[in-house]
Amino acid sequence: MSPYLKNLLLIGLLLSPSVFSQPPLRHEQEDIPEGPMQIERVKDGLYMIRGPFTRCMRAICTPDGRSYGDDLNHETGDVAVRVTPAGLILIDSKFNDQVDDILALVRTISPLPIKYVLNTHHHPDHAQGNGVLQTTGLDIVGHKNTRANFLNIGQPGEPNIVFDREASVFLGGIEVRMYHIGRGHTDGDSVIYFPDLSTVHAGDLIIDGMPFIDYSSGGSAVEWVETIDALLEIDFDTLIPGHGWIMNKEDVVAYRYRFAEMNRRMQELAQQGVPVDQVVEALQLEELGWENTVSTSTWLNNSLVPYYNEMAAQ
Ligand SMILES: [Zn+2]
Repeated sequence: MSPYLKNLLLIGLLLSPSVFSQPPLRHEQEDIPEGPMQIERVKDGLYMIRGPFTRCMRAICTPDGRSYGDDLNHETGDVAVRVTPAGLILIDSKFNDQVDDILALVRTISPLPIKYVLNTHHHPDHAQGNGVLQTTGLDIVGHKNTRANFLNIGQPGEPNIVFDREASVFLGGIEVRMYHIGRGHTDGDSVIYFPDLSTVHAGDLIIDGMPFIDYSSGGSAVEWVETIDALLEIDFDTLIPGHGWIMNKEDVVAYRYRFAEMNRRMQELAQQGVPVDQVVEALQLEELGWENTVSTSTWLNNSLVPYYNEMAAQ
């Protein structure tokens, strides 16, 4: 058994069912100002592109200038850029009208062409830009269910190279590996691993916010926790989330335990027959650190009922 799984089990034993005592999560979005897209170095040869940061995102902008009914600044999916001597590998592509800004920021770190786009999953705020990038002739790699999810929602730019469990792209002497280790946020989640940098991009499997379970795309709360356990088996010290700033392995362990605790509470409530419109308060999201995050309202609007049903059926 790996040290991390032992650690997880130990933490699990120490957690009493009724008292959840973990340090509070720090949510960067509570402090982050509105602003344009920006590129930041993660490690030598690896960058991430975040933002733009705004209260109001695209078509769901409300008359009061907010998209989600909260007072947080939201951002589209974190993009990673891996630089190799033979060209660049992009992880995800944000919305299609954000590709020009992505390319302008990429040009500030390298003049080399982008050779591949690897997708963490199909959601438009992470992968809609594929449709624009694909016109330049590059290859797009994703899990086979991610391709199917592109086709299901009629989104151009579906991966032209797919895999089932694991794939690697080799470019300029550098390997970038992709793992599909189980369902979670969707049924096509990929973890992108940079072995020489001990870094992963986890897409929306790990975010600075509440886990949004996209049941319409095959997501599962129960399997998501198992998927995070498998993610923790990978040898990494740095994680790029789907949304938010970089994290370390301890952040992922904390996320996993909050998620497992929420599942335990929801299962208990659902199996006791507490009506779904009364469970949110009993879940005590503030104790889990998820009462006011960038994804809380999306979760309430889209995940709550199917999540209740999934946990009732356990
Ligand atoms: Zn997503």
